[in-house]
Amino acid sequence: MFEYFDIHSHIDFPDFDLDREEEIVRIKEKKIGTTTVGVGFDSCQRAIALAEKHDNLFACVGEHPGDFDLNSVFDERLLELAKNPKVVSIGETGLDYYRLKSKDENLKKVQKKIFESQIDLSLSVSKPLMLHVRGSKGSQDAYYDALEILEHYHSTSGDKLKGNAHFFAGDMDVLKRFIAIGFTVSFTGVITFTNDYDELIKYTPLDMIMSETDAPFVAPVPHRGGRNSPLYVIEVVKKIAEIRNEPFDVVKTALLNNVLRHFPQISAIASSSSL
Ligand SMILES: [Zn+2]
Repeated sequence: MFEYFDIHSHIDFPDFDLDREEEIVRIKEKKIGTTTVGVGFDSCQRAIALAEKHDNLFACVGEHPGDFDLNSVFDERLLELAKNPKVVSIGETGLDYYRLKSKDENLKKVQKKIFESQIDLSLSVSKPLMLHVRGSKGSQDAYYDALEILEHYHSTSGDKLKGNAHFFAGDMDVLKRFIAIGFTVSFTGVITFTNDYDELIKYTPLDMIMSETDAPFVAPVPHRGGRNSPLYVIEVVKKIAEIRNEPFDVVKTALLNNVLRHFPQISAIASSSSL
């Protein structure tokens, strides 16, 4: 069984082309599991191929909201990929207003439509959502819009609607709304070099937090500036324990159990294999 879980990484990205297999061996040696998160059709296929080859890797399939344009349509082929047994979640999906110009209402509508179709997919295959939500500069606007959609689904589907808000960067009010609909939040290595997330991390119930790296991006201290890797998820877990002022072993065990409880496919695969 794993000791750590990095719920969100991109080990299929070109940054790992030179030593991907060796890095996966190192990750496995440290008893770390990770979900390779697709951002479009090609990377979803790569994520599945990696997950099928390695016991400690899982896949997440979806279309990243930052990659859409007005002609974008939800890719029907994702429906097939989503049924793969090693696909454990749907995403990254959500709303990303960071690069939109303020008057881009049409593009917001397209993002919302595609987000809704991926929520439908998540419900139909019973696999939780991996949310990517990023507001326009200095704003929580995308979080408010995403929550409005999710709260609506929650009112009709109840606890069947499940998910994790990756790279959580909402405020306290947004955090409370996610917890109220049963969504977990995950934090990255950013928490090792800014105090901005401390209050959120202290407030979140221990059974609703996950650890992630978003590798190859945002490597934590002491690896800051270099390529990030699922290996460094240990630094994230350490920092969450430090900020919460709770024993490392307690936090480590709780974060792993959160993954197994909120992502049932991971739990089923892990307990039926030699992991
Ligand atoms: Zn990502």
